[in-house]
Amino acid sequence: MMSDRLYYSDSSRTEFDAVVVEGRRVGDRPAVVLDASAFYPTSGGQPFDTGTLGEARVIEVVESESGEVLHVLDREIPAGQPVRGQIDWVRRFDHMQQHTGQHILSAALDKLCDARTVSFHLGAEVSTVDLAIPLSEMEIAAAESEANRVVWEDRPVRIRFVDEAEAAALPLRKEPDRAGTLRVIDVDGYDLSACGGTHVERSGAIGVIAVLSAERLRGGTRLEFVCGGRALRSLRRFREAVAGCIRHVSVAPEELPAAVERLQADAKDQRKLAKGLQERLAGFEAAALAAAAEEVNGRRQVVQAIEGQDQNGLKAMALAICSNPGFSVALLSTASPAVAVVARSRDVTLDSASVLKALMTEFGGRGGGRPDLAQGGGLTGELGAMLARTRELFGKGQA
Ligand SMILES: [Zn+2]
Repeated sequence: MMSDRLYYSDSSRTEFDAVVVEGRRVGDRPAVVLDASAFYPTSGGQPFDTGTLGEARVIEVVESESGEVLHVLDREIPAGQPVRGQIDWVRRFDHMQQHTGQHILSAALDKLCDARTVSFHLGAEVSTVDLAIPLSEMEIAAAESEANRVVWEDRPVRIRFVDEAEAAALPLRKEPDRAGTLRVIDVDGYDLSACGGTHVERSGAIGVIAVLSAERLRGGTRLEFVCGGRALRSLRRFREAVAGCIRHVSVAPEELPAAVERLQADAKDQRKLAKGLQERLAGFEAAALAAAAEEVNGRRQVVQAIEGQDQNGLKAMALAICSNPGFSVALLSTASPAVAVVARSRDVTLDSASVLKALMTEFGGRGGGRPDLAQGGGLTGELGAMLARTRELFGKGQA
């Protein structure tokens, strides 16, 4: 049976008495159909209401294929039981603000820019309208201003029920997609739309309509917007973010983009400078390491843990040492997990890749390379043990 939808004629009603007509299941949860209900089921881009039915919590409200309102509950309620329904007003009112705001914003976009609203989605954080055509920033700003003017004029928002003949004579913003009696939302003197959702009673209750972003989408435009309480929360969020930025770079809010751009350019220069210095330092350190190399079986060997160098730095050092003849080199970072670079001079017979592979078999990590140069990372273990094992492998590899 079709339950009486109390929100159709009164969106502000938060309490009602009803009788459970039938018990159902939605997925693995119990659900009930009532003889009358003020709960809004998810439809037309607007999410469901929450609240309670007696002791039971209403966790979701959906419309069945035949148009029944199914209240999904956290516990069973037997058929025949009378219940008192209570709507979560904070959530309902938020949806009313967003949804009525959408009517006015869509009407303004339609009137000023000839941009028809193709779809609407009321999200948990922001809502979106998809418009049929591309729009410029200026057009969007003009529609946003006009929509807010209509909000501040505090126009009555009425609910009208009309039959098909009456509907045909009304200047509805959008062709109705259903026959029979239509529920029309009338923003006094501004917009007439067939809609089954919940709306505020006067436009002033929307507070403010703020477009947050616009993007091109399938030849049209998607606008993200917030109304009322959400707009205030957005403002607070932006205010905190801007204040947080300003604490670090002391400029006026409108100068932030340029300041961030400057910081990025500076950081890029610094990285370039640091890289150059790191390479030069690696050259000096490499020379020192080469001078202090151990003599093993007539070959010069450098097996060292190096502090403060990343993989690129270690590689640069290893290559610098091996540009001289007669060297076998293994450099490990002191950071854990460790980075390892194994290399040899051109005249030395040693397979760097198999030395690294043997190290990784024991200490883990990933990497690889060629006989003259191999590098890896993610080696974990005691640094002394890694160095000792490398010396051992060098001994074998060069025998
Ligand atoms: Zn609506």
